[in-house]
Amino acid sequence: QLAANITLVLTTVAVLVAWRDEADAKLLEQALTDGLTGLANRRGWDARAPAMFDQARRHGTPLALIMLDLDLFKHINDTRGHEVGDQVLRLVSSVLLDHRRSSDLVARVGGEEFALLLPHTDQAAAIVIEQRLRAALRSSCDRQPELRVDYSAGMAVLQAHDDSLTAFTVRADSGLYMAKSQGRGQLQVVG
Ligand code: GH3
Ligand code: MG
Ligand code: MG
Repeated sequence: QLAANITLVLTTVAVLVAWRDEADAKLLEQALTDGLTGLANRRGWDARAPAMFDQARRHGTPLALIMLDLDLFKHINDTRGHEVGDQVLRLVSSVLLDHRRSSDLVARVGGEEFALLLPHTDQAAAIVIEQRLRAALRSSCDRQPELRVDYSAGMAVLQAHDDSLTAFTVRADSGLYMAKSQGRGQLQVVG
């Protein structure tokens, strides 16, 4: 009888621990995910990007970073409404998700700003990926003209002198800034 009781208690404890671990994992996943779009949020980015950066540096493998910001998004909110703005954010995010490889990190790092970190991707490959994204978004917008939107992007590929993720990000951001100042709706690659 005692042995049976002990077994029952141990089994119950094991079930509770497993249940708590699963709940913890779900909570963590939720904390790292943007509720509106299902992409990683800023916390998700901060949780994964540094390790991906370190790994590429350590192994000398290519790494591309694309920073992407929707064009004149405030105007979309102002003229078509905040709800449509949210739908536009979800549309863009679904295009990004559709084109994501399992090793890529795609995050909504700001209101209408996205970051894509692409391991094993050199400059030529990253340019092709960005072109595909732009084409896919364009055809999605052709099907849903009320959600039409464009974006500007800056890209950098990892170089030997990039000794921090911050320095790397600054270069991609400067490409994004150039894209905005040169008329939006384009990609600028920073060497
Ligand atoms: P630019 O081409 O220079 O980037 O212009 P912009 O209008 O996109 O830039 P700005 O930073 O002025 O506007 C960003 C807007 O994004 C302002 C803010 O209200 C809106 N925004 C941020 N988060 C959300 C959100 O979750 N939903 C909606 N609908 N709008 C959001
Ligand atoms: Mg912005
Ligand atoms: Mg914008």
